[in-house]
Amino acid sequence: MREIKGLAASDGIAVGPSFVYSSQAQAYRETCAPDERAVHVQRLGLAFAKAHDELDVVYQKARGTAGEEAAAIFLAHQEFLEDPALRDEAEKLIQDSSLTAEAATRAAFELYAQQLEALEDSYYRERAVDLRDVSRRVVRILTGAQDVAALANLNEPVIVVAHDLTPSDTAQMDKSKVLGFCTASGGLTSHTAILARILGIPAVVGLGESLLEVTDGQMLIVDGRGGRVITDPDAGTRAEFLRKKHQWLGEQTRLKSAASRQATTKDGHPVQVVANIADATSAQVALDCGAEGVGLYRTEYLYLNRQSIPTEAEQYRDYRAVADVMGSRPLLIRTLDIGGDKQLPYVDFGHEQNPFLGWRAIRLCLDRPELFEPQLRAILRASADRNVQIMFPMVATLCELRRARRAVERVKQQLRDENIPFDPQTPIGIMVEIPSAAMAADLMAPEVDFFSIGSNDLIQYTLACDRGNERVAHLYDPLNPAVLRLIQRVIEAGHQAGKWVGMCGEMAGDPEAISVLLGLGLDEFSMNPSAIPVAKELLRALTVRQAREIAARVLGMSTSDEIRAYLATLGLPARG
Ligand code: PEP
Ligand code: MG
Repeated sequence: MREIKGLAASDGIAVGPSFVYSSQAQAYRETCAPDERAVHVQRLGLAFAKAHDELDVVYQKARGTAGEEAAAIFLAHQEFLEDPALRDEAEKLIQDSSLTAEAATRAAFELYAQQLEALEDSYYRERAVDLRDVSRRVVRILTGAQDVAALANLNEPVIVVAHDLTPSDTAQMDKSKVLGFCTASGGLTSHTAILARILGIPAVVGLGESLLEVTDGQMLIVDGRGGRVITDPDAGTRAEFLRKKHQWLGEQTRLKSAASRQATTKDGHPVQVVANIADATSAQVALDCGAEGVGLYRTEYLYLNRQSIPTEAEQYRDYRAVADVMGSRPLLIRTLDIGGDKQLPYVDFGHEQNPFLGWRAIRLCLDRPELFEPQLRAILRASADRNVQIMFPMVATLCELRRARRAVERVKQQLRDENIPFDPQTPIGIMVEIPSAAMAADLMAPEVDFFSIGSNDLIQYTLACDRGNERVAHLYDPLNPAVLRLIQRVIEAGHQAGKWVGMCGEMAGDPEAISVLLGLGLDEFSMNPSAIPVAKELLRALTVRQAREIAARVLGMSTSDEIRAYLATLGLPARG
């Protein structure tokens, strides 16, 4: 029995066998000894054949879910593998330059990709992205890493163990078979941690490299509240945790039944508590947890794990499905927030030194109308007779906001010309998640209908600390005075212009921060569905006056330690 400490990413307890997953190609040697060449040629042949077989499965699956046209891309991927010239090139590199099968694959595909990129025709240039995708598949097979399909086809309930999980990995996962998960890296607001909370799957992240000693099928306990993983628990420990799990489930049921009522403070002020969701399933989960609407619909999950941009029709179908679950409740749809750690195979991001400061979200959308406009059309179409609102992510300047609004106007005109119904009054707001937007909130406020503070990124950019890097996790602090001052500024600027201000970062559902945020005047709290019951209970225990006093005291303090110590003396429940 061994205990590994990590970060408590998603509440709950899971007990079960491990499933060790590794999607990243492992490190490999570049060259081999002359007498190993024949072996590498043989490995190359086997890996090409295996990649071809994998693509059969991927093609069939995509045909069922996305249709023939979208799936056809995988047939094109197979054609690359069947191309004798490409295969000869790779074999030649092994024979003539003693490259390993991995290095030869990468070099041969890269050579072809660069040749395609040099062509005038954009069709061929874009095929370079496909070539690199196939190359990664072959190299992954050669290095013995798994295909993401392994996560989609789990046979029994398991605890997923990984170095890290990308948003695409978690999107593919068959969640009905996942009891919990734990990763060696990642911080509390990494996308994987967020998704775990949305889905209510217990998770611990940032467990460090020793997690990777866990082998497939080993019995594990994931303690998502205590932030630890126990390997090979003895019978007593196992029984203790099964009891805790039972208790936790009972507590959830009790809180959930109270959560269906609105959160009204002790002195009678109703507070809007809404949810962060990723699709129609999580929208339903949100309602079951007591959400009064959606404050953040992360549409990017619809774009992941595919080989082409979702069509307007596909997007409309999904947005409308969520809007139908929400009925007349508010539904804030965030436009595509891609880039950074969320890469798409069909968008060439090029090499970026700093992807988190790079070409992403609204920046990318403004540059790529063929991505942005179909999404805006789909959102506006879903707005007919529904309470849909549009929210732009990662706005840094007023200029970007104006350009994005102009794009909406263009799309509205198209819809009018085509006699397609939509709500012409659809409110438009921005996420305030870059310090420049917070500092200039007074300049932006007259030109938006609302602000929603994206604390996850706002904290990361204010303190210049990667939200997914556990080594700087100590800097990543919602109660840092600089962060609190920015939040105060945004709320005041919004209110002065008569606009409501919400928050959809994780901080909005953090029991430690809720009293301060209420006191600062936050109008809307948007959080993962599983956080709603506790947040509502907390809000009901406060008066607005008391919260204002707390906020005023906290704003006078110089460090988060001081703030935390003060909040601890108040005796407010830190958890439900
Ligand atoms: C945020 O940055 O606070 C936010 C809600 O957006 P995301 O976590 O998707 O970056
Ligand atoms: Mg963000």
